Amino acid sequence: MSDTYDKFINLVCEIGQLDSIAQLLDWDSETYMPGNGLHVRADQLALTAAMAHERRSSSRLGDLLSQLEQSNLDPVQAANVREIRRLHDRAVKVPAELVRRIAHAMTLAKDAWGKAREASSFPTFAPHLEELLTLKRQVADLIGYRTERYDALMDDFEPGITTAEVAAIFASLRGPLAAFVRQLTESKRQPDTSILHRHFPREAQERFSRRMAEAIGFNFNAGRIDVSKHPFCTGMGPGDVRLTTRYYEDFFNASVFGVLHEAGHGLYEQGLDPKHVFTPAGQSVSLGVHESQSRMWENLVGRSRPFWEAFYPECQKAFPQALGSVSLDAFYGAINRVGPSLIRVEADEVTYNLHIIVRFELERAMIDGKLAVKEVPEAWNAKMRELLGVTPPNDREGCLQDIHWSMGTFGYFPTYALGNLYAAQFFEAAHRAIPDLTDRIRRGELSPLREWLRTNIHVLGSRYRAGDLVQRVTGNPLSTEPFMRYIHGKFAPIYGL
Ligand code: ZN
Repeated sequence: MSDTYDKFINLVCEIGQLDSIAQLLDWDSETYMPGNGLHVRADQLALTAAMAHERRSSSRLGDLLSQLEQSNLDPVQAANVREIRRLHDRAVKVPAELVRRIAHAMTLAKDAWGKAREASSFPTFAPHLEELLTLKRQVADLIGYRTERYDALMDDFEPGITTAEVAAIFASLRGPLAAFVRQLTESKRQPDTSILHRHFPREAQERFSRRMAEAIGFNFNAGRIDVSKHPFCTGMGPGDVRLTTRYYEDFFNASVFGVLHEAGHGLYEQGLDPKHVFTPAGQSVSLGVHESQSRMWENLVGRSRPFWEAFYPECQKAFPQALGSVSLDAFYGAINRVGPSLIRVEADEVTYNLHIIVRFELERAMIDGKLAVKEVPEAWNAKMRELLGVTPPNDREGCLQDIHWSMGTFGYFPTYALGNLYAAQFFEAAHRAIPDLTDRIRRGELSPLREWLRTNIHVLGSRYRAGDLVQRVTGNPLSTEPFMRYIHGKFAPIYGL
């Protein structure tokens, strides 16, 4: 049987390597590729995608899977077989012609979305959204689902979770969260955020962001930071992890918290088991768990008072003109200001999940056919009013703000909110395991938390599905309670409640 498993793993590694090559090409096109390289790059990416698809959907892989499913496997082998079965079935069920049609529709939709957003005109984008929804419904029907089509789409990003589970989680979150936002915004005490918009020289930002990434343990022998329009993290393997960020000289948060966020993703990638590189046992579990790592370092650690007790003096030295005379309390309040806003990517920790709930409820209704495309702008604005108390003045700042729908990624947004919930639940478990964790952070010692995450989450790769991992690491199923405890415990004192 080990001979069969070896053949299986060799094929799986080839697929992993092709994906990794595509990621490197993608990284390059977002960072250094000259504009005219676009067509050659598109051909290169199409070839690597076709080669990976051919192997993933091959009857050879199917036969190996069937043989291995009949045999005794150790836990790592079993996890690899389970996850590759899922990917193989998806690849077999969706015909290449449909994949090609989706890629084509996406290219046109992305272009139309850009123009529609520019002109703030939803009708320009509407026919493309309609087309993508039709194609994605077909994908869901081919893959199959338990209760609704949205299940099949979400499975691509957060394997194993159902729409009903996510809906129940969001239903318990939306009321209390919206009420808490109202309380905070009505409070008399409001942090002054103008200090974050003073002059922060770019070179000082580059040095300080890099220092923050090093402080949390990002290994620059196995990674680097570059500049791109939209920040991201991509891992070619645990030894080569690339982060990107952007620098605004009139805004402190973008680079420093952006780098802490992406480096959080990066620590997960660097912490994966190199023995299992290119196979599920050496790859992250889900987008939600990935996001939990970035949000934990960005927010639960990086926007905490203990963290800045350790690093604020250094920060003041890095930006003497902007922050030299600003107290730690004023700085801590400013980086934690809460307020309803129109744009998700600028949202604070408390309102962020509300933005996700808006998208989830609309997407689910669109995929179900309960919400017609032409009614999306109005439905969007109504939900923004209901949950955040703000009304977008136009579609650019409303339903056209995110690129995801033009890429056909329905079922992706919930992973952002799940990431926040997982992060709070993991963080509570870390505090139970490391009783003096707060003091350690206060002293700038971040290795205890990082090593705990590495042992309990990173190195396990996809051995457990997200739901099982949460149960295993925290002793409980996924819950909204740790997150609600966290935001009340943190923000009530800042706002004097
Ligand atoms: Zn992220």
